[in-house]
Amino acid sequence: MARSAVSARTWALILVLLFLLPGALPWGKEGHYAICKIAEGLLSEGAQASVKKLLPSYAGGNLSALCSWADQIRHNFRWRWTGPLHYIDTPDFACNYGYCRDCHDTTAHKDRCVAGAIYNYSAQLSASPGLNSQHGYNLTEALLFLSHFMGDIHQPLHVGFAGDEGGNTIIVRWFRRKTNLHHVWDTMIIESALKKFHGSDLSSMIQAIRTKYLVDPAAAISSWVNCASNETVCPDTHASESVGLACRYAYRNATPGATLGDEYFLSRLPLVEKRLAQAGARLAATLNSIFTAGRPPPPISSPIEPLCREWEQG
Ligand SMILES: [Zn+2]
Repeated sequence: MARSAVSARTWALILVLLFLLPGALPWGKEGHYAICKIAEGLLSEGAQASVKKLLPSYAGGNLSALCSWADQIRHNFRWRWTGPLHYIDTPDFACNYGYCRDCHDTTAHKDRCVAGAIYNYSAQLSASPGLNSQHGYNLTEALLFLSHFMGDIHQPLHVGFAGDEGGNTIIVRWFRRKTNLHHVWDTMIIESALKKFHGSDLSSMIQAIRTKYLVDPAAAISSWVNCASNETVCPDTHASESVGLACRYAYRNATPGATLGDEYFLSRLPLVEKRLAQAGARLAATLNSIFTAGRPPPPISSPIEPLCREWEQG
C-alpha cells in the first residue's frame, strides 16, 4: 500500500515535470508552446500579473505550459463541442474567407469556428475587469482557449478547404514518412527545423524567431498588432491571411501522393516562423489591451449579428 502510494505520487511528479519541460513535450505541441512563450516575453507587467492570477498553480506561472490544453481536452466527451472552434472550413479553391459565410460548425451553428471563439473568449475576459467574473464565465478557461486559438488561426491550413478538411485528407510523404498535409503544417515543418537547425532545442528555435522578427519592436511588429478601427482583436484579418497563405504555399505542389522534401521544407519554413512570431505578438497585444490596468479595453466588435443578417438577406 505504502509503496504504491509513493509510486503514484512519484508518477504524478514525473508527469508534471514532463509537461513543464519544453524539450520533453510530445510532438505537435511545439508550435503552441513557442507562440505562448513569445507572447509571454511581450506582456506588460499588468497583463503578466493578470495571466499569473488566472493560471492554475500547477502551471508554475507559465502560460506556455498550458497552451495546448485546448487540444488535450477536445476529444473528451464533456468538451467535444469545442472541436469546431479550432479551425474554419472555407469553400474549395475560393482562397478567401468571410465570417458570415464560413464561421459555423458542420450543423450550421453560427459563430462556431476559430474566429468566433476568439471574439467570444476575448469578450469574456474584457467583460471582467479585476478578474471577477460577474457573468459566470470561467476566466481561466477563457484565457487558455484564447491563447490556443490565436495560435490555431495563424496556421494556414486551420483556414483551409472544406473538401479536404484543411489538408487532413491529403496524404503525402514528408521526406520518407507517410503523413497528411495538415500534420505537416501543424508539426512536421517545425519538427524538421528543430532537428536540422537547433539540435532539437525548442528554446533555441524560439530565440532565433525572436531575433529575426521581434528584436526591433518598431519594425514589423507594430504593423502586425494594430487592428483596424482600434479593436482589441481582429481574427477575421488573421483568417483571411491564413487562407491566402494556404493557397499560395501550403496546397501548392502538395497534391495527394506527393513527396515533400527539402525544396518544400526550406521554402515554407520562413513562413511558419513568421506565423509563429505574428501569433505570439498578436496574442500579447490582445492580452495587454485587455489587462492593462486603468484603461478600459477598446470594444470587441464582432460582425456576428447585424452584419450577418444583412449578408444573408443581400
Ligand atoms: Zn487547436
